[in-house]
Amino acid sequence: MVIKTRVLVIGAGVSGLTTAWQLANAGFQPIIVADKPFEDTVSFVAGALWEWPPAVCGFHTDIDSLSRAKHWSQRSYERFKELSQAPQTGVAMLPSYFYFAYPVADSEFDRQKMQEIRGCVDGFDHDPAWISRNGINPDLELQDCYRFMAPVIHPEKYLTWIRNQLKDQSVPFETRSISGPLREQVELRERYDAEFVINCTGLGSHQITDDRLYPLRGALVRMQAKTRNSQLNAAHCITNDETKQQNMIYVLPRGKHLLLGGIAQPDQWETSLCLENSRDVRSILERCQHFMPSLKDLQICNETPVLVGLRPARKKNVRLEWESEQPIIHNYGHGGSGFSFSWGCAEAIVRLLQERIGT
Ligand SMILES: Cc1cc2nc3c(=O)[nH]c(=O)nc-3n(C[C@H](O)[C@H](O)[C@H](O)COP(=O)(O)OP(=O)(O)OC[C@H]3O[C@@H](n4cnc5c(N)ncnc54)[C@H](O)[C@@H]3O)c2cc1C
Repeated sequence: MVIKTRVLVIGAGVSGLTTAWQLANAGFQPIIVADKPFEDTVSFVAGALWEWPPAVCGFHTDIDSLSRAKHWSQRSYERFKELSQAPQTGVAMLPSYFYFAYPVADSEFDRQKMQEIRGCVDGFDHDPAWISRNGINPDLELQDCYRFMAPVIHPEKYLTWIRNQLKDQSVPFETRSISGPLREQVELRERYDAEFVINCTGLGSHQITDDRLYPLRGALVRMQAKTRNSQLNAAHCITNDETKQQNMIYVLPRGKHLLLGGIAQPDQWETSLCLENSRDVRSILERCQHFMPSLKDLQICNETPVLVGLRPARKKNVRLEWESEQPIIHNYGHGGSGFSFSWGCAEAIVRLLQERIGT
């Protein structure tokens, strides 16, 4: 049966584009409206490494949201793995190393997380010997490490690829800002002749819902790495640990560059940070170079040396649900995991719509 239900998707970051792709491929007719080109979204800035929740910058305060997030991540892993077969998608499966200052077995939380990851990824290997093999500074006294093959996404290529796929399917795009409470915008659906609205506005949702979202500011330092050894053609991460004042570290390959992170600063809206004006940004470089001394041999990019973005954060993590008594589904608040959750969330939205219209 051919479904012709028209659905208005607000937002053209990774959440909106993935949702529109999934809708179009399930037989719906999406229309995308966004107030900015995707070059100006946080999705464009992201490190865009696939992670098992909670992410290196993240925390989860409730078990329900964590369990949904695991399912979404697993689905996304499978979808990204398929996409990595075609280089034009901008998705690659690369080794990702996670390092610990203590044996993983000593922490119930990390042990369980490691077991879950082991069950759903390719190429899992738990071996502290990776610390020295990867040239990690012994002064840090890291004790443990595991690695697996993870999707690493090049946002510019990937978002361009999805957008072109949607254009090929004649999905309309319109630049338009939605203001005021979304639930009161009855004329919006009429204007687009849409039966349903999907809200994928990320941090923008704080202006069109009564939800409390806040920015979790992040920054990445871009290094030139035209030629790379195998150690640098991989992701390397240490998780943020607020209790131990341990700032996260991540080193991610992106095309001819390496991205060094990171910071996770709640309620900070200012994005004009650079190496000259921000001690926090300079500390990213220092921490990463201390972590992996071979990074000292690389030059900082002259053009766009620093990327800054506001992760759309929410105390209860992602909001993926119907707005009460309205034909609106919310899909926002992905924090530091918008790519990791993207396909799982898009599939969940299609299921909600199919249940509602009885297909
Ligand atoms: C430094 C950094 C590193 C990161 N690393 C990772 C990572 O490794 N892995 C990962 O999974 N995630 C990572 N993230 C997080 C990721 O970037 C976000 O979770 C994700 O991009 C959110 O996508 P989104 O589509 O929901 O929101 P956005 O990309 O912000 O898109 C929102 C869209 O809504 C539109 N919009 C907003 N308000 C309105 C309005 N009123 N009217 C019309 N349109 C509107 C905007 O124009 C935009 O198109 C990182 C983020 C940062 C900053």
